[in-house]
Amino acid sequence: MLGLLLLPLQAGAAAGSIDAAQLEQDPVSLTAHVAMLEDSTRTLTFDVISSVDMAEHFHHQPVDSASFALGFTRSAYWFRLEVGNSSDQSLTRLLVVDNPRISLVDAYVPDGQGGYRAWFTGADRPQSGKAYDNRNFVFPLHLSAHSQQVVYLRVVSSIGLLVPLQLWSAQAFHAYEREDYMARAGYMGIAVAMILFNLMLFIALRERIYLLYVTFVLCAVCALTIKNGMAPDWTLFGLPLNSNVAYYSGASLALSGMLLFMRSMLQTARLLPRMDRWLLALVALYLVSPLIYAIALAQVSRVAIVVNLLTAFVMLGVGVACALKRQRSAYFFLAAFGLLIFGGATTSLRAMGLLPTNAFTVDGLQLGSSLEMLLLAFALADRINVMRQEKLQAQAALLQAQEHLVETLQRSERELEHRVAERTEALQVLNSRLETLSLTDALTGIANRRHFDEVLARECKRAQRVGEPLALAVLDVDWFKAYNDHYGHPAGDSCLQYVAQTLAATISRSTDLVARYGGEEFVFLAPSTGLAGAQSMAEKLVRAVEALALPHERSPLGHVSISVGIASMQGDAGSAAQTLLQRADAALYRAKSQGRNRVVCDGQA
Ligand code: GH3
Ligand code: MG
Ligand code: MG
Repeated sequence: MLGLLLLPLQAGAAAGSIDAAQLEQDPVSLTAHVAMLEDSTRTLTFDVISSVDMAEHFHHQPVDSASFALGFTRSAYWFRLEVGNSSDQSLTRLLVVDNPRISLVDAYVPDGQGGYRAWFTGADRPQSGKAYDNRNFVFPLHLSAHSQQVVYLRVVSSIGLLVPLQLWSAQAFHAYEREDYMARAGYMGIAVAMILFNLMLFIALRERIYLLYVTFVLCAVCALTIKNGMAPDWTLFGLPLNSNVAYYSGASLALSGMLLFMRSMLQTARLLPRMDRWLLALVALYLVSPLIYAIALAQVSRVAIVVNLLTAFVMLGVGVACALKRQRSAYFFLAAFGLLIFGGATTSLRAMGLLPTNAFTVDGLQLGSSLEMLLLAFALADRINVMRQEKLQAQAALLQAQEHLVETLQRSERELEHRVAERTEALQVLNSRLETLSLTDALTGIANRRHFDEVLARECKRAQRVGEPLALAVLDVDWFKAYNDHYGHPAGDSCLQYVAQTLAATISRSTDLVARYGGEEFVFLAPSTGLAGAQSMAEKLVRAVEALALPHERSPLGHVSISVGIASMQGDAGSAAQTLLQRADAALYRAKSQGRNRVVCDGQA
């Protein structure tokens, strides 16, 4: 039955013993010295394993690197180490399993009295069960002078199984421990500073992105602390903090925090809306993943690693896409992310033996992570800078817009004033033209009846007030009805125009006024003029029309002529304008009846 169980292993290889006395300052990797046995059913007990005939079922692995990389396996692995002390003194050496993430680590160490002392530790067991208080699994070996002993280790893991085995002198290990803790404390210091600083920024600025950063860094620090085996022996919802379920859950939360932070920082909802929905789905997956881990970590741990790796590629892709869209934050993000990946890669390459072990490669992931944190915090600070610049630009733009507005307003006000002035001037011109029009006769262009009536009323009053004479003449074209009938109405119109121009041109005094009173009747007003003066003036007018010699076949004279009736007043208060007109009209009537083409004065027979 045992034979069947152990079938996959080659039997017969004897474990090469190691002499602990030869060990100096540097630790020795034990991968070449231990023999290994796979127990795929995890049923073999120490009693069976330690029986003499089992030794031949252990075999040496041709391993070059400092650890056994056994991958995602459910098997239990047993390691058998023969260690001797060729010296004359008893020695204490430390067997170190340099990976805090192995679920179960059982060590069987000779107790010096022919028996074995068993240590049952591992990530999924309480830290207090450790043989030696260190973040890794360390087992002291006490070797008496010239002795030889066999140590057994049994390891099982729910996640990838990597077993680095080393033998250290106690003194060298103490020195290493101090350096190791210093490095981790340094990282922790940076992380705490970043968390507190960005928490303050969040409180001051109330911007979600700072809280997302704090959440992300907090989760990342917790996950890394657990990964390093430094979590205290606390439980969270009944889950031991140091367990691999807590480690994977912490990593999931850190990744979801980082995704949320990245979404906010790169504004993916705006820049890559479709991708953004996938990112949210990924966040949701990561948020429920702790439940899955709690139920079946061992079954899903390999898939989880692949998903995490894919997420890293997705984040890288999103960063590149946003950088291509010239998103300023994307450059910072890519640089920070690149540092993290570079750090992770150096750690992996060291584990694979492709890079030498030194201060940078041992804690590459941690170093990358802290540089990433710093760079992202710097990017957040840069955001403040950008926001301030944007604010200044916005203010400047606002000011410019205001100035422009004021200028535009002033200009339009000026334009309005100018236009109002123009319109006012035009209106004034129009008004005076209208006034002129309202006082001018349309056909003849001389003063009309309205104008005449105004002047007559005014001059009447003045004549009465001043006691000066005022003469008025009424002129009528003779036989004009007949003229119209003979020559036609348009010819009659132009005849009236000729007569009017002649009348206007004949009066000499500027105070005299000739107006068309209506039809073919004209009036003539002469202020400060007595009857005699007016009469000679009227005679002049009659002669002037006669001199025009406009043919009038239907007139007995043979040409166009006018008759004039004159009246005057001399300061007499009783005589109104109407009376004056009537008197002049009566005189005209007499002129007509006396034969026309003549002047008759008021009062003349
Ligand atoms: P008289 O005064 O010599 O007694 O004879 P008359 O023919 O002039 O008589 P009346 O005063 O009765 O005729 C006036 C005519 O003038 C009548 C009308 O046809 C004409 N008339 C009045 N206004 C105008 C006008 O604006 N244009 C023209 N073409 N004819 C007019
Ligand atoms: Mg008439
Ligand atoms: Mg007439």
